[in-house]
Amino acid sequence: MASLRVVLLGPPGAGKGTQAKLLREQFEACQVSTGDILRKAVADQSPLGKEASAFIKRGDLVPDSVIVKLVAERLNEKDCAPGFILDGFPRTIPQAQSLEEILQKMGLGLQAVLLVQVPHTVIVERLAGRRTCKNCGALYHLNFNPSTKESICDRCGGELQQRDDDREETISARLKVYDNQTAPLVDYYRQRGILREIDGVGNVEDIRHRLIKTLEDRAT
Ligand code: ADP
Ligand code: ADP
Ligand code: ZN
Repeated sequence: MASLRVVLLGPPGAGKGTQAKLLREQFEACQVSTGDILRKAVADQSPLGKEASAFIKRGDLVPDSVIVKLVAERLNEKDCAPGFILDGFPRTIPQAQSLEEILQKMGLGLQAVLLVQVPHTVIVERLAGRRTCKNCGALYHLNFNPSTKESICDRCGGELQQRDDDREETISARLKVYDNQTAPLVDYYRQRGILREIDGVGNVEDIRHRLIKTLEDRAT
């Protein structure tokens, strides 16, 4: 299996988490989802969770210093040694600069930043219908990827829930945050020559194939 060192970039609901989980099955890499790590910390009421919860609720970004520390620790865990898929990080220019420093210290570089592009209308539809398993984190969608039994995870029987920040008021706040603070990363990585753009509209399998084709093109 080939190793991978990539960032999945794109607005909330673009399908980053869905695709990161699929890529992890095909490549040697860990998935680093800052959103998942933060939500677990909130559920556990850990110090990190207490610090982050108000930001997440409002749809704001958690401060860079908190996030960078968390990612640096995660990347040093064993399962990230062969490679990593960053999903939801970096989200600001300072985070991208910190990532560069972290990787430099590890003697590594990014292979590619995969930008998954999806228009706002599609995003709202995807986020409003998103459901997540409380127990194993599996992703579902009420219309596009429903569980067999309503509100129950097919994989583990866990209960499916809607994220607090996937309600309509917070979705629009998160989209603004994306446009203002995260979208500038597109030019940042384009200038470094590692940005690859992928059309994120279509079914999950189509997009998976597009991502893999893009990664293969890079290798040749
Ligand atoms: P999505 O991919 O659906 O937009 P995430 O699960 O990645 O959502 O993130 C949920 C929330 O967690 C964000 O709205 C933000 O409050 C916080 N968060 C996640 N990743 C970061 C990050 N890299 N920097 C700052 N805040 C983050
Ligand atoms: P992100 O991590 O970028 O916020 P997710 O992977 O959580 O996005 O996907 C958001 C929602 O859209 C989930 O409910 C997921 O099941 C659904 N979804 C993901 N990819 C697609 C797709 N290609 N077509 C339709 N729905 C999708
Ligand atoms: Zn489950």
